[in-house]
Amino acid sequence: MKNGIIKDIDTTNLPTQDGYFGEFGGSFIPPQLQAVMDEVTAEYEKIVKDPAFLEELNDLLTHYVGRPSPVYHAKRLSDAIGGAQIYLKREDLNHTGAHKINHCIGEVLLAKKMGKKKVIAETGAGQHGVALATAAALMGLECDIYMGAIDIRKEAPNVSRMKVLGAKVVEVTRGTQTLKDAVDAAFEAYLGDPISQIYCIGSVVGPHPFPMMVRDFQSIVGFEAKKQFASMTGKLPDSIVACVGGGSNAMGIFSAFLQDSVPLYGVEPAGKGLDTPLNAATLTKGSVGVLHGFKSYLLQDEKGEPLPVYSIASGLDYPGVGPQHSYLKTIGRVNYKTATDREAVEAFYGLSRMEGIIPALESSHAVAYAIKLAQELTKDQNILVNLSGRGDKDIDFVMENYPLVDYEPEANENGFDEFLAHIRGN
Ligand SMILES: *Cc1c(COP(=O)(O)O)cnc(C)c1O
Repeated sequence: MKNGIIKDIDTTNLPTQDGYFGEFGGSFIPPQLQAVMDEVTAEYEKIVKDPAFLEELNDLLTHYVGRPSPVYHAKRLSDAIGGAQIYLKREDLNHTGAHKINHCIGEVLLAKKMGKKKVIAETGAGQHGVALATAAALMGLECDIYMGAIDIRKEAPNVSRMKVLGAKVVEVTRGTQTLKDAVDAAFEAYLGDPISQIYCIGSVVGPHPFPMMVRDFQSIVGFEAKKQFASMTGKLPDSIVACVGGGSNAMGIFSAFLQDSVPLYGVEPAGKGLDTPLNAATLTKGSVGVLHGFKSYLLQDEKGEPLPVYSIASGLDYPGVGPQHSYLKTIGRVNYKTATDREAVEAFYGLSRMEGIIPALESSHAVAYAIKLAQELTKDQNILVNLSGRGDKDIDFVMENYPLVDYEPEANENGFDEFLAHIRGN
């Protein structure tokens, strides 16, 4: 694997020509937008085979993003748990602090090659907006980020980051004034001028070709990790764990292992609990429907309207999920599990205290499930976790809302006990 783009070696050979993963995916959009998407697909398929494009992409991933990101054996954490060895793929060490830059560099490079002047996108918490604004600044393209008015007020630091980077933040005041309306507004703006601008979606979601394209750009995570893990241990991991919002970091690491027999675990946010409405566990609790131009599992009401969803991690807070995940669930290739807010916070503190690595609250969901799984496995087994991002953005929120700086397991009524006892060796 020279370039990390998975298309020629993905023996599942998906999606189909029209963008389907089994019954999922496709393209449910107005005919006018379909013509635009067809053009993007054709250009992408051409460009992804172009050695000059791949060389430029790889050069930026190496010298700008800082790839390859290391694989790290979290030995103290593993010892404290007393089960399997936990390894981390350190996407938190990328420039901008998360995996999103991998596909943003790819998408903006594609935009540049297609002669576009401007990239546009939606953002919820601002993470995708910042990554895209970064890539746009790097390549000298204009960048418009559509963001709900409520999110703009909530996510001031990311709004400032985007502005400093030269992006225009377009306030969306309709509907719920959050992510879903920002997507609608951005797609409308795209339709208004599909010639000079291009939509750069934030995950493996949306109409074909986005789920394929974003997956391909993220697949470098898995191909790197596979090689690195083999050189460290001489074998494949016994399990792989990643958090799932839209599903891009998970598809990134899973892609390289789909043809192996390694068990794969996607971890969705159970929020305040699966028996409450306050979660975003789409594959666990959802049903099949259409949202934002693609067919997948969704959290929806009887009318097919997306339900309001919730997670402590705003990057996981989406009522849909990438269509390939729905397919991988249906065929039983990936196991989808959940972690609650509280479990994520435990993992957040646990990894910080045991390894000096502060994980993003999104990534903390994967760490939380890995901690559980490690206890079911033996010391000579290994779990590889995709640490999708760093937690600097979350520290103030966690300190304010979960100020358990010094854990007191006996004084704890709300579940911060078992794991903490573990990591303290009690
Ligand atoms: C956005 C984000 C996620 C969720 O997105 P996916 O497409 O599911 O990967 C996960 N981790 C971090 C750090 C993020 O910023």
